[in-house]
Amino acid sequence: MPRLLLATTNAHKTSEFLALLPDWDIADLSTHPEYVPPEETGTTFEANAIIKVIAASRLSDDWTLADDSGLEVDALQGAPGVYSARYAGPEANDLENRMKLLRELSAAGARGKARSARFRCVLAIARNGAVQATFAGAAEGMINNAERGAGGFGYDPLFIPEGYCQTFAELDAATKNLLSHRGHALNAAAEFLAGLRESR
Ligand code: IMP
Repeated sequence: MPRLLLATTNAHKTSEFLALLPDWDIADLSTHPEYVPPEETGTTFEANAIIKVIAASRLSDDWTLADDSGLEVDALQGAPGVYSARYAGPEANDLENRMKLLRELSAAGARGKARSARFRCVLAIARNGAVQATFAGAAEGMINNAERGAGGFGYDPLFIPEGYCQTFAELDAATKNLLSHRGHALNAAAEFLAGLRESR
């Protein structure tokens, strides 16, 4: 199987990509302890995906895929956006970020339909420091007023995808992957990835 290096240390993202890309031999940055993560200085998901993929693709000769993703909440003018991972501070964990999101929504007086939101994902693909392509995906939904469910990661216990009553953390992994921003971005990348496999 062709090898694909994921430019992530997030084991949750890796397990989603493992399920979504069954015909690639996937490794992530846990196989490169020498890796020093670059600062994510971009103001867009695409800019940060490119920063990550360029750095990680210099570690080996393998095709490398970076995911930059996050949550945009309409009542918060698109926050936390590219700052999703560090919303409650540079060292914040997922729970602290979710608690801050609930506090901000409550302070904004956002109820019902005003809690509309979307996850966005941009994938960047590179080899040896040269970016070849980027692909985007989104998943529309709402922010629930309390956490529900134990699956997934990040903001999953608060995010109810459009057309469902359960949060991403309550849905099984296969359903989340079908609906998610990451799943949609990978669908957009499918033809390109198939071309990479054939060109080997
Ligand atoms: P990144 O690793 O810099 O791309 O940061 C992504 C952040 O966005 C994560 O730390 C999560 O807080 C959030 N995020 C991205 N994708 C998801 C998802 O599928 N579920 C829940 N939260 C997500």
